[in-house]
Amino acid sequence: MSKKAYITTPIYYVNDIPHIGHAYTTIIADSLARFYRLKGYDTFFLTGTDEHGQKIEQAAAARGKSAKEYADEVSAKFKALWDDFEISYDYFIRTTDENHKLGAQKAFETMFKNGDIYKGEYEGHYCVSCETFFTDSQLINNEYCPDCGKITTLVKEESYFFRLSAYQDKLLKWYEEVDDCVMPKAKKNEVINFVKQGLRDLSITRASFDWGIKLPPFLGDSKHVLYVWLDALVNYISALGYGTDEKNFSYWPASFHLVGKDILRFHSIYWPAFLMSLNLPLPKHIAAHGWWTRNGEKMSKSKGNVVNPREVAEVYGLENFRYFLLREVPFGQDGDFSQKALIDRINSDLGNELGNLLNRIIGMSGKYNNYELISSSVLKFYKKDIDTADAILSNAESFIHELQTNKYLEEIWKVLTIANQSITLYEPWTKIKEGKLEEANAIVALSANLLAKASILFSPIMPKTAQTIAKSLGFELDTKSYEKLIINKELLDTTVITPTAPLFPRIEKELMNTPEPAIKEAKKDEQLISADKFFNSKIQVGTIIKAEPIEKSDRLLKVFVDIGEEKPRQILSAIKAYYDAKTLEGMQVCVVANLKPAKIMGFDSYGMILTAEDKNGITLITPQNLKDVGSIIK
Ligand SMILES: [Zn+2]
Repeated sequence: MSKKAYITTPIYYVNDIPHIGHAYTTIIADSLARFYRLKGYDTFFLTGTDEHGQKIEQAAAARGKSAKEYADEVSAKFKALWDDFEISYDYFIRTTDENHKLGAQKAFETMFKNGDIYKGEYEGHYCVSCETFFTDSQLINNEYCPDCGKITTLVKEESYFFRLSAYQDKLLKWYEEVDDCVMPKAKKNEVINFVKQGLRDLSITRASFDWGIKLPPFLGDSKHVLYVWLDALVNYISALGYGTDEKNFSYWPASFHLVGKDILRFHSIYWPAFLMSLNLPLPKHIAAHGWWTRNGEKMSKSKGNVVNPREVAEVYGLENFRYFLLREVPFGQDGDFSQKALIDRINSDLGNELGNLLNRIIGMSGKYNNYELISSSVLKFYKKDIDTADAILSNAESFIHELQTNKYLEEIWKVLTIANQSITLYEPWTKIKEGKLEEANAIVALSANLLAKASILFSPIMPKTAQTIAKSLGFELDTKSYEKLIINKELLDTTVITPTAPLFPRIEKELMNTPEPAIKEAKKDEQLISADKFFNSKIQVGTIIKAEPIEKSDRLLKVFVDIGEEKPRQILSAIKAYYDAKTLEGMQVCVVANLKPAKIMGFDSYGMILTAEDKNGITLITPQNLKDVGSIIK
């Protein structure tokens, strides 16, 4: 029976379209899965989408869609990107899949029957955006989310709890016993410190919204849905058939759960505790990577500097992009994307070192030996170089097991350097002049063998490039070649080289149109205001008493808003195209109350109603819960 490997990405939350962070996680996981397949492991690679929760329910409602419609749409975008990127996943799971629901309910039921779940009452400050509860002491200024800065709401509700506190010591013991259970080390230490401060029981159900998995039927409690994190984490076993058809369950435990550092806590504390409660083995490695910036700046939609992975791959080539992502940053640290850095990697590492080497080998073999490549005399003349390279390559593997893909590639590239240098140093053209044909061909074969060995090892990262090289040098890119050339340190059989076009045409200038960082920088400063300036505006909650269209205007409605003054304010608002005046009555809005009165189309307007605008049009800003009229917004 062959060894098994199980590699996962997080399931991506469908509140966002895929960005470079998603691409990075998925490409590392894909490379790892390909690496295990190359080694002959029976490998299962899982990715998918996380689709429940209040945030999705709200995002869907804001777009006038059902939660499922919205989830279908965004999930399809992820799947399409991974398919276009030829990500070699074995299964794309969706948490709205029936088999996942059954798996999650089974997990809840098992934990319940094992005595780890009880019913209680939860009171906490809830951040909708982060789907997380916070305690008083965690909040910023008593009301803002410490993670995203948005306002939280105090929620008190009946909830089922998981006895996380009972697992504190067991978790600490696991961290201590399994050195690389959480990677990298620095992140593991953060997790240990967090757990040592004490774990509180975890609220794992919600009764305040519907868009989630119902509790298992045996409880007869239909008020609650599963907390989105419990729901999501269970995907790693439901995907293997937990609770349904367990035919793939032999892949468990996971070899690697790849996650972004922002969700490490859920994976390295909650998830192993859930698994302990389920009496299931724990994952072998949970590995957290860092974030990406662009030209040294944090990426955000408002700055317009978000890297679209599809665009980069289309413009610069998918394989080049994969190489860049895995070569540029040490695993666990934050990385910076810039077109300049990417172009440098393409021109120097890929063009000069790799592409050029193949060209030289093709050229020389054609000239000296009619493209025939004979490896048998390499050891006679250049055994030392082969031995050096073999030693480097067998050492390189340890880096990929630690996910240090940058070091892994660095080591492989050392072998390409040896190959290039050996041509320069041993001068086959001189040997030809001296009539030493066998020695000249041995130099060509030496560099071809080094290239072949290197290609086998970088094939998980650049599968197509490695395939092209293998075809050109005349060997099969498979587990047999891996065992022969890497494990057994043998050489290629006699082959015939097939010329191929240059792999990495030089890139002379940046190919994507993005705003210049310098200009953006200046603009940013110009737009900054002090807090005082902002607090000069008096913004209050108001309730619309009535609204009526202004006949001669396509844009304007006349709106009467009660903001707790003697009589409602008359405000002219340019929302006619988006709202029917009759439907506005009773709606709460946010009003800038201390604006100078203005005359618009002959009507007085005393204030401004806040709206948000994007390509889909204008929407009113409304408090999440009903607030007293006149409440101050800050
Ligand atoms: Zn938040």
